[in-house]
Amino acid sequence: MRRTKIVATIGPASDDPGTLQKMIAAGMDVARIGLAHGKLEEHLEKYRNIRAAAAAVGTNVGILADLPGPKVRCAPFPEGGVIFEDGAPVVFTAGEAKSSIGVISTDYERLVSDVEVGDGLALGDGNVTFVVESKDGTNLNARVLRGSRVQGRPGLQVPSDRLQITTPTAEDVRFADAFIEAGVDMVALSFVRSAHDVRSLGVEPPPRGPLVVAKIETRAAVENLEGIIAASGAVMVARGDLGVDYPISELPHLQKHIIRRCIAGGLPVITATQMLESMVYSPTPTRAEASDVANAVFDGTSSVMLSGETAIGVDPVNAVSTMAEITARADIEFDHDDWAEQVHKLRGARPTHDLGAVTTDAMTMAAVRVADQVGAAAIVCLSRTGYTVRSVSRFRPRVPILAYSPDERAVRQLALSWGSAASAQPDLATVRETIAAALQSSKQHYGLHSGDRVVVISGHAMAARATDTIQVMSVP
Ligand code: PEP
Repeated sequence: MRRTKIVATIGPASDDPGTLQKMIAAGMDVARIGLAHGKLEEHLEKYRNIRAAAAAVGTNVGILADLPGPKVRCAPFPEGGVIFEDGAPVVFTAGEAKSSIGVISTDYERLVSDVEVGDGLALGDGNVTFVVESKDGTNLNARVLRGSRVQGRPGLQVPSDRLQITTPTAEDVRFADAFIEAGVDMVALSFVRSAHDVRSLGVEPPPRGPLVVAKIETRAAVENLEGIIAASGAVMVARGDLGVDYPISELPHLQKHIIRRCIAGGLPVITATQMLESMVYSPTPTRAEASDVANAVFDGTSSVMLSGETAIGVDPVNAVSTMAEITARADIEFDHDDWAEQVHKLRGARPTHDLGAVTTDAMTMAAVRVADQVGAAAIVCLSRTGYTVRSVSRFRPRVPILAYSPDERAVRQLALSWGSAASAQPDLATVRETIAAALQSSKQHYGLHSGDRVVVISGHAMAARATDTIQVMSVP
């Protein structure tokens, strides 16, 4: 069983039912719908197609709606694009006139007042960069630092602490409401700067509401990481925009830091952007990309993400199966012993005011140790909300975490969590009966055999509010 999960972005190359089914069969655990471009109704159509494809394949796929956030967009460049030369002067202004090689129009009215002389600006994911040399009442006068081709309607990256637009925007809230109404499993919030931004989305806690994925792509988010982690359901290391807000040399270290803090907080973490970028055009990744994916697994990422590779790439199914192959191989090399040591240190002091959380923390840590020492074939986890499963997952047990929840959305939300295989199963009259049904299912669906030893963690009664019981059992 592959342990690291795969998130794949759905776009024009992958939104037809046949391709979606093949991507699911190839290993897509979570389908991401990027909402930065296009109409709401088209996105909801994608959502319905993904649900139908998962039903046709007979598996659970999580769906992540990725909100646009406060992006500054440029007015369109001429057909065929333009090539910016290093050192060329360029004027930035706010307005609707088409962009050209000399004047770039943006939809952000406060651009000239918010941006300061000396600031760096970038187009798209940072392929073309500028420095602002002077400004007057209506224009920023800038110079190209690094030139390249630009086409379409790229985003303009402005240093995140300059922008006055807050997250979530009115459009984010409108999109989030529509997707929550449709039953979406996860919602990603772009350009988060503080825990307050995350709380402002105002969704119910999971699984009644979606898991809120905070995209860490600004300096402010890195500086306020602990608060954001405490307010979020999951985190994305959004390397595209993060690599614009920070020097590129900082990126590998930020990735490790963010992942470690998420693990300490018990949150799943997605490593995103350019993981197999060359597969947008090519049938095989570069050697460096294969190493990047494996190293993200060794850093402790829960999930890896495909963006353009599956949204607009030549062969989305091949991109997913390549990702599945690289991660499955890296999972085998994962150093579980070293990880357990690290997590014990990273967890730090546990909050003592919340007895449920302290109990779950202690019990899940113990369950992973017990599983190791008794040579268990799996950890079977009864979990209503998925919280206990996420808590087990951060210890990176050697054996599969087989999760059972009566809540179907909790099951789909676990599609992001490392090492878990989750199934929906209704609660029976007693915990004993529910465990017996889970063990039957683990034989049928996960290849466990009669007599296999398993560690079962659950609440002592159906109404128990925390995971407080560990049992070593034999599969009947
Ligand atoms: C990123 O910046 O890496 C990212 C995932 O964000 P976006 O949705 O803007 O691509």
